Amino acid sequence: ESIIENIDKKDGAIGAFLYVDKEGALKAAEKADRLRRDGKSAALLGIPVAIKDNICTEGTKTTCASKMLENFVPPYDATVVKKLKEAGAIIVGKTNMDEFAMGSSTENSAFKKTVNPWNFDRVPGGSSGGSAAAVAASEVPAALGSDTGGSIRQPASFCGVVGLKPTYGRVSRYGLVAFASSLDQIGPFARDVEDAAMLLSVIAGQDEMDSTSVPGRENCFLDGIRDGIKGLKIGLPKEYYGEGVSSDVRESVLAMVKRLEGLGAFVEETSLPYSEYALAAYYIISSAEASSNLARYDGIRYGHRASEYDDLIDLYARSRSEGFGKEVKRRIMLGTYVLSSGYYDAYYKKALKVRTLIKNDFDRAFEKYDVLISPTSPTVAFRFGEKSNPLEMYLADILTVPINIAGLPAISVPCGLASGLPVGLQIIGKPFDEKTILRTAYAVQ
Ligand code: GLN
Repeated sequence: ESIIENIDKKDGAIGAFLYVDKEGALKAAEKADRLRRDGKSAALLGIPVAIKDNICTEGTKTTCASKMLENFVPPYDATVVKKLKEAGAIIVGKTNMDEFAMGSSTENSAFKKTVNPWNFDRVPGGSSGGSAAAVAASEVPAALGSDTGGSIRQPASFCGVVGLKPTYGRVSRYGLVAFASSLDQIGPFARDVEDAAMLLSVIAGQDEMDSTSVPGRENCFLDGIRDGIKGLKIGLPKEYYGEGVSSDVRESVLAMVKRLEGLGAFVEETSLPYSEYALAAYYIISSAEASSNLARYDGIRYGHRASEYDDLIDLYARSRSEGFGKEVKRRIMLGTYVLSSGYYDAYYKKALKVRTLIKNDFDRAFEKYDVLISPTSPTVAFRFGEKSNPLEMYLADILTVPINIAGLPAISVPCGLASGLPVGLQIIGKPFDEKTILRTAYAVQ
């Protein structure tokens, strides 16, 4: 009740939630109380969690912040939601986001504006801006988001909370509305590293409904989290500290790295030479996959259907024209273009080759280092409307997209303030080595 009351009080100003499920949450809370009275326990018994609105919740609208899915009520729970419920968590509601997770500021939501709780003139980041803001404003202790190119880590960084993108395959994507299937991954937002580890422990694991999910080799990500970082080998990829990274962000991160050195870590500069091609490769691969994934919204099977049309083709065209926002259309056009015959080899196939080179860069670095550390975002949270040019908005993702391209785990942890706004430090790990990034993150906070 106090959580709901608090959301009622705060969310008018913050705008983190698209939907608050008061009735469902109170019913789940009563059940949790009953279980507790009976002496039962579960990992998240009675813990309120918010869910990004591209993750399916049975019987509760899942809109992807798009007019296309304005009235879509999924008939099933995503695997992560099912797991949260089984662990006793209370699903409080659905959070705002950039439409279909395309964006870096949550300004692309078709429905509402979410502000940064630190400064209402600034964006919360995106695309999981609602989840980040809900945790930062203490509306809920934890939330789930999705990260295709930074959408958990960047808003976590802008809002001063912890955000974790697990290794590709660590968490089931069943019930996550697909944006770019080879990059998408669900992960937690929390106020501290232990809470994030606890949430990951609950949602991780192989799922027969997602053939890309892998068997969990460990599932308690809290184990060893406090063991310290003596002897840990940290690489600082120099490309992640260069041009475009604001000097106060760089200084905050490097000051924290110094502290880690003081705690016994070994720190050295390194290089990921293909980094400069990551952003271009990302926007080609992700848009190509998006154009294919979003072909299902044809006005027939799902979502919005135009009320007036001449024939079938006209029905498709009008439904999609009316249902999708500007950025989503831009990605679909870009994606169909790079996949079209004549351009496929020049763009899409080339981008896949670059993807391999980027992956090789990381493999080489991880022969020598346990983790890599960089800023999460080149700047602190920017102002609304500041990045009205889409290319400028894309540049905000330059430090997060390479990690998705390589399928690696990475976490953003708060590391101080610059101009009164939170700075995020990104720790990148070897595939399926979430434990080491969590242990390092624990030392940072
Ligand atoms: N900002 C990036 C994009 O717009 C990343 C989005 C995401 O991770 N979902 O594609």
